[in-house]
Amino acid sequence: MDDQVVRDLVAMGRFLGSIDGLGVKGGRPAAAARARASAPASTPSPSPAPTASVRLAVSPTQDSLEVRPVAPAAPPRPARDHALVESALTAILEDIGDCKRCRLCDGRTKIVFGQGSPAAELMFVGEAPGADEDASGLAFVGRAGQLLTDMIEKGMRMQRADVYIANVIKCRPPGNRPPENDEISTCQPFLEAQIRAVNPRAIVALGATAGKFMAKSGDPISKIRGRFASWNGIPVMPTYHPAYLLRNPAAKKEVWADLRLVMDLLGTRSE
Ligand code: URA
Repeated sequence: MDDQVVRDLVAMGRFLGSIDGLGVKGGRPAAAARARASAPASTPSPSPAPTASVRLAVSPTQDSLEVRPVAPAAPPRPARDHALVESALTAILEDIGDCKRCRLCDGRTKIVFGQGSPAAELMFVGEAPGADEDASGLAFVGRAGQLLTDMIEKGMRMQRADVYIANVIKCRPPGNRPPENDEISTCQPFLEAQIRAVNPRAIVALGATAGKFMAKSGDPISKIRGRFASWNGIPVMPTYHPAYLLRNPAAKKEVWADLRLVMDLLGTRSE
């Protein structure tokens, strides 16, 4: 078994253990990961399915052949002024104001704008706030949010504070029903403005609503997950929602495969 396969299995165990409650310790993400995050310049292209193709590389020392999956490299980003990103985000928040643009304002407690680092290279987009988010005003803070934190920190070995997290819509639908099309289209400009402000190198779309919206697809999440789509040139990986994983832990294998492709794309997967 080669070293990369061993490292993958260790990381998968860390991620899966956290979901199963097996008490596997995740540890802190490696600081080196961010230093490796500037992948070489290349035009993003739709990626094959996780197991669909392989790359052959000749090791210079052992003259042996190594086979590993291919992922496209995320486009590089120009240097950014984080204060400008913060002020762009503040302007979007001010534009939202005490929003009454759709019926969801009637039942909400707090608008859930989204939160994270203005320097984020990776953005997660979920569906809509749930009860915990509606009460706190923060995205992904309930049980699904805890699992998302584990996916980021124990699985991807990144810090949650270093990514940016938002939802397709900013107010909780009654009874956590899926957002309706007019609610999505009313809220759409705000999420799109947030993405343009943060300008992440990659986006993970969590669940059917975010997957369809970000990948501009009418297909079910089971069909679109595992392949990069593009949102205005930013690679988008649709995958299952953490709330779905809580109900269907068997799907964690697929999510882990999807997240590894994202790590490959960002150049952060080597340990
Ligand atoms: N589910 C979502 O899609 N978003 C949240 O913020 C919380 C739960």
